[in-house]
Amino acid sequence: MTEETNIYRVGEVEHRRLLAAAAEARQKAYAPYSGYQVGAALLAKSGRIYGGCNVENASYGASICAERVAAVRAIAEGETEFLAMAVIADSPEPGSPCGICRQFLVEFAPQLTLILANLEGKSRSGSLEDYLPYAFNKDYLDAEGAK
Ligand SMILES: [Zn+2]
Repeated sequence: MTEETNIYRVGEVEHRRLLAAAAEARQKAYAPYSGYQVGAALLAKSGRIYGGCNVENASYGASICAERVAAVRAIAEGETEFLAMAVIADSPEPGSPCGICRQFLVEFAPQLTLILANLEGKSRSGSLEDYLPYAFNKDYLDAEGAK
């Protein structure tokens, strides 16, 4: 676990709001192949919340996760600073963002607060840094050796 204390603390009301937004976004999931419907809600620094759902494709590799859909929607609206994300799925335990989504999100918000939940109300929270330690980021590209 990280010792950083500047992880955004999600209040109780905001926590519920984010989970509700993620659950609502999940209703739009297009998951005819896996049947695993996921919803995400991303809280931007502006206070706006962007929902996302997973969108599968017959060419499986063309599928995209709910977390990235939410982030892409926000970025397309000009947002680049994020505080927290809720992710909800119908799974025995709260789901967990895949590696691609962790990498995608760390580009914008390494200390993003993650709230992971299932439909039965089980949830857990943590920092993205805990989920993706030693993440690859732009600092590596700035190094002399990378030129
Ligand atoms: Zn993913």
